[in-house]
Amino acid sequence: MGVSAYFLSAIITDFTFTINPYFYFFLIVLKTICIILFFVIKYLIMETKNFIEDIISEELAEGKVTSVHTRFPPEPNGYLHIGHAKSLCLNFGTAEKYGGVCNLFFDDTNPSKEKTEYVDAIKADIEWLGFKWYEVHYASDFFDVIYEKAVKLIEDGKAFVCDLSAEEISATRGTLTEPGKDSPYRNRSISENLQLFKDMKDGKVADGAKVLRAKIDMASPNINMRDPVIYRVLRATHHRTGDKWCIYPMYDFAHPICDSMQGVTHSLCTLEFEDHRPLYNWVVENTGVTHKPRQIEFARLNITNTVMSKRYLKKLVEDKAVSGWDDPRMPTLTGLRSRGVPADALKNFCEAIGISKANSEIEVSYFEYFIRDYLNIHAERAMVVFEPIKVRITNFPDKAEEEDFEINPNAETVVTRKIDISKEIYIDAEDFSLDPPPKYFRLKLGGYVRLKSAYIIKCNEVKFKEDGTIDELLCEYVPESRSGNDTSGIKVKGVIHWVNAESAVPCEIRNYDYLLKDAEYAGQDFSERMNYDSVHIFNGFAEKYLASVKDGESFQLMRKGYYKKITDGGKLVFSQIVSLKDGFKPKNN
Ligand code: ATP
Ligand code: MG
Repeated sequence: MGVSAYFLSAIITDFTFTINPYFYFFLIVLKTICIILFFVIKYLIMETKNFIEDIISEELAEGKVTSVHTRFPPEPNGYLHIGHAKSLCLNFGTAEKYGGVCNLFFDDTNPSKEKTEYVDAIKADIEWLGFKWYEVHYASDFFDVIYEKAVKLIEDGKAFVCDLSAEEISATRGTLTEPGKDSPYRNRSISENLQLFKDMKDGKVADGAKVLRAKIDMASPNINMRDPVIYRVLRATHHRTGDKWCIYPMYDFAHPICDSMQGVTHSLCTLEFEDHRPLYNWVVENTGVTHKPRQIEFARLNITNTVMSKRYLKKLVEDKAVSGWDDPRMPTLTGLRSRGVPADALKNFCEAIGISKANSEIEVSYFEYFIRDYLNIHAERAMVVFEPIKVRITNFPDKAEEEDFEINPNAETVVTRKIDISKEIYIDAEDFSLDPPPKYFRLKLGGYVRLKSAYIIKCNEVKFKEDGTIDELLCEYVPESRSGNDTSGIKVKGVIHWVNAESAVPCEIRNYDYLLKDAEYAGQDFSERMNYDSVHIFNGFAEKYLASVKDGESFQLMRKGYYKKITDGGKLVFSQIVSLKDGFKPKNN
């Protein structure tokens, strides 16, 4: 969407040569053809389905499926991050597109890491994105069914209890070029296996002493098919089933059964599960489930300068490198929400990156582009001075005056609010230079600049403090230069923001850097790339209007960026959402 706007503006740029009229006519025709072609291509791209939709459309056309039922399957072992947003958009979006439904499915087969806190946070994040799940299920709801399916496998001679340790199992699994070795316990009788599995369930076996393995093929070229472990003994209190179970199914065994029990037609997961698909299908085929779901894999979302793994995000929280899962620098959905990123901006981003079969890394600036794109339309403008210098306007009347300030130049109609100005204002230190380079259009000694929505001022004198820093600037204003009614005839190139000193409110401004520095070499670990200097604080002044607006509102602080207003410890704070600077280069995508 944003990228096409960029290309469109490139195409419709006017030709400005003075040339032979026939050639000019030719250029006009060429330009028209380009525009038509652009829209045709854009339409075709928009109408093209992703490869998953191609598969589903074909299955529907052939009658292989009659409806679409997906599920979003988080493990409640941490908070959702921006990568999960891609999976959410895909699962909910696909179901919606085909008039189907999407479940929320908690994959809670790993009791030692899972918590109800995470379940609640995940639900809140999904609601924030505006998705509505059809039903909520937990793998733990199906523990009885999964157990029965394991018993069935044993009865059918397709699973056995193995006494090898985890190390021995992995040592006998073989390699990509060599087959594995059969376990010495592989040929236990069905009755012995049934008894031992019951013993495991009844708490008669120590943790790790025995496992249940599917009996598939130790010579399979796919290592996942070499008699995989499907149940283990684990004494851990489960966040939902408590101490009812001391055996837990492995993900690869539980997931297809749970998909089937829920009526899921398309089980969409990330590419690392591609090699597990034969096992998924084996479980579906051999456990006697009546409904047969299909697993389809897509590429994970990776973003530059962004930690994208719950394990590392958890470490950041535990190491107190951030204030919590909802720290505004965190790429968690709760972090993005507390930062002030609009849910729609995130959804637009997910839509734009699309779905592919190849892993890649998206520039973080591409994500920021969508935040800016959204806030540019929706956020009010306001003025805050980050590093104030006082300006005394020596010829300004003693009484304050009010000016009209346009709230948002993108609004359909012009809406303004009043801002006040008086003899003393603050401007930003970076908008004044004692030693200006050539073409410096902000304020300099003897130079003019326009104050946004007010007057042109000229700097006549600089007063210094004893320590040599600037105390105040003595300026004069041009009364005929009032914005909207400028008869002064003075041409100025620079417009700067400011606040009225007598009514401005002190505030804190928080700017953020990425939590992750650029990688210095390929494969560099996240822990070596942490940026511990990622918050920058300024103590500035905000126009008084900003003290009265609701907490959580977003603003474009003019010439600075998009900020969310919050109150922290009674203090007025502006927390950065995204800078104004657009680092995204469309050619990269
Ligand atoms: P993490 O490694 O961060 O813990 P995960 O894959 O273990 O991620 P789950 O809770 O299992 O996290 O994920 C739920 C769903 O979200 C899965 O279908 C998973 O494939 C998907 N998902 C997780 N991370 C990404 C990502 N970066 N891009 C796309 N989908 C993702
Ligand atoms: Mg996981």
